[in-house]
This record gives sequence, C-alpha cells and structure tokens, in this order.
Amino acid sequence: MRALAILGSTGSIGTQTLEVLQRHPGQYNVQLLAAGKNWRLLEQQIRLFRPPWAALADEQAARELQARVKDLEVEILVGEKALTDLLASQGFDMVVAGMVGHVGLLPVVAAIQGGANIALANKEVLVMAGHIVTELCRQKGLQLLPLDSEHSAIFQCLQGHSCPDVRRLILTASGGPFLGKSKAELANVTPAQAVKHPNWQMGAKISVDSATLMNKGLEIIEASWLFGIDPENIDVLIHPQSIVHSMVEFRDGAVLAQLGIPSMEVPIQFALSYPGRWSSPDNYFLNRLDLPELTFSQPDTEAFPCLELARAAISRGGNAPAVLSTVNDICVEYFLAGKLSFNGIPEVIAHIMSEVPWQENPDLTQILETMEKTIRVTRSHIESME
Ligand code: MG
Repeated sequence: MRALAILGSTGSIGTQTLEVLQRHPGQYNVQLLAAGKNWRLLEQQIRLFRPPWAALADEQAARELQARVKDLEVEILVGEKALTDLLASQGFDMVVAGMVGHVGLLPVVAAIQGGANIALANKEVLVMAGHIVTELCRQKGLQLLPLDSEHSAIFQCLQGHSCPDVRRLILTASGGPFLGKSKAELANVTPAQAVKHPNWQMGAKISVDSATLMNKGLEIIEASWLFGIDPENIDVLIHPQSIVHSMVEFRDGAVLAQLGIPSMEVPIQFALSYPGRWSSPDNYFLNRLDLPELTFSQPDTEAFPCLELARAAISRGGNAPAVLSTVNDICVEYFLAGKLSFNGIPEVIAHIMSEVPWQENPDLTQILETMEKTIRVTRSHIESME
C-alpha cells in the first residue's frame, strides 16, 4: 500500500478524500492527517484511520487532542515547523494538499522535497510559487496531479495528447451565487449569501472566491503552471449548470470536454487512482434523461473585477500573483467576519497590488517576505477604512 498524507484533513477536500479512501480500502495507507484547529473531527479521523502521525497548527487544540488520544499510538505534531520537518524527511508516496490559502505553501514545498507526489487542491500554492513548485517536481521526477475540478477535467482531456497540440484551454465557471447581479446589487450581499454556492459543496474561502470570480482568476494562473499554457490562451466561460468541467481546444479544431455531476470526489478519486480509474457509487452518474440544457456565456468583468485583476497580476509576473493571492486571502477573511463589503474585496486588492514592491523571479524566501508584507499592509489598510 502506498503511504498517504492529507494536509487539511478536516476541511472539505480532506473529508471527501477520506470518504473516497473508505470506499476503496487497500489502496493507500493513511500515515499523516494534518489540520488547523478542529481537534474534535481530527480525533474521529485518527480513530478511524489510525495514522502514526497527526498534526495541528493550533497549540491549544493540539493539547486538547493529545489528552483525548492517549490510548492510541499516534504522535501529535504541533505547529508548522514540526509538520514541514516530517514532510521533508518522511518521504510519503502521495500528499493530498487540501489546505486553504497561503498557509499551504511551505508544507507542499516540504512534501516535494521529501519526495512525495502531490495531489493539489490548494491552488494558491501554484499561484504564489508556480515557478518554484513545478521546477522542484520536475527535478525530482514527481507528479503534480490536479484535484481542482476544472484542472482535473483538462488533465483528463489531455491524456494521450501533448501540450504543443493545444491551442486553447477553456475553463468553465458556475458564476457563483451572484451570477447576473450588477455591481450596485452586489453592494450589500452578506457572507451567508456568498457561501451558499448553487452547485458545489465547498469550504467558506473558496465559496467566496467563487462568488467574486477570483477563484477563476486563480485557476487561470494554476492552469498555466500545471499545463505550461500561456495565460492569454486560457479563456473563461460561465456555465451555470457545472456539468462541463472544462475543455481543451486542439490545433486541428477539435474540442474535448469532460462532463460529470458537480462533485469534488470524482477529481479527488481520479488523482488517487491515476492512471487507472476506480468505480463510483450510483449517485455519481449523470442520468442521461436528466442531462440539463447546457448554457455558456461571457463573464461580467464589470460587476466581478477580480478576474481582470488576476489577469493583470499574471501579466506583471514576478511576485505579483503572490501579492494577489495573499491580499485576497486576507480580504476574504475580513469579508467573512463582516468587516469588509463584497465590492470592497476587489477595491482593496487593486489598492494593495500597487503598494507592495514588485520583484522579478522571486525565490522562496522572497515569496515568504512578499506574503508577510502583503498581510501586514492589507490588515492595516482594511482597519484604517473602518
Ligand atoms: Mg475549481
């Protein structure tokens, strides 16, 4: 059995990964479960999967967990340093990167240094440091498998084809809960409305990103690193039914698409079973008589400026995508806490993008410095607005 670690095991990707593994026993041996502070759910997961290691970022939560699992042979790691040390030294076969935002960067880099193939849901890692992460994987001969549904779709369409034959990638976007609303109508939308996604069950952060369309902007950058395609050749189409998960147009004019029900478990399962496929339960299958009408339209970049902000960050290059991704993380945090309006998110991002000094070809240390500086200036800027 292959040794598996899950980063963000109590989050949306982590829990769905464990559900897939429960349906397919004997494939992977879960050796590490890492979470932020949800020690209650982590305890349940430890009792079910019996990993030799579990990690929590939060010290208080780790103490609670430690007291609860005294009867088990599990070592509890506390904080980022202990986690990255284990990832870099242990050499897992596969690491599911399901953390959210900039906090996933160092653990993923450590896992690659330790020799693990990566199943990546934590797209911010590629947005912030795509040049470093892809180069490290290439040097070490490791696979970077996409868990993001659009990128999994493209990856599936590309099987048996080579990238020079690709003319264009078409990422589909549901449009989120506010599709069709004008900028004025978006002024007073609430966090509760933003996280209520019409099709996908996802964590709060990515649900807000989906509502602002920043998610799609980050996905353009993610796709360009994963598949080596110029961002100019990556288009976005609004497709509210979320049945076509993305498309690849080849140079002969053929377009391949991947279709399926909107469930993250299918892309998670494909990354774990790759290059083969495992069977899925009945409720994963599209009933051909129920296949809805499929519609496509252009995104409204005036009401949802985040998509263009992301494109601007990619074309600036250097540390600009790292600034974009980090300021967005902080804006979403303030929006969810009711301290920043929905339309305030792109406004703050545009402002901070011009505040943090630009840097060409940053190394990992410079990216971390960019991240820290961006967090600092974003917090003080938002707090001065109140
Ligand atoms: Mg996606």
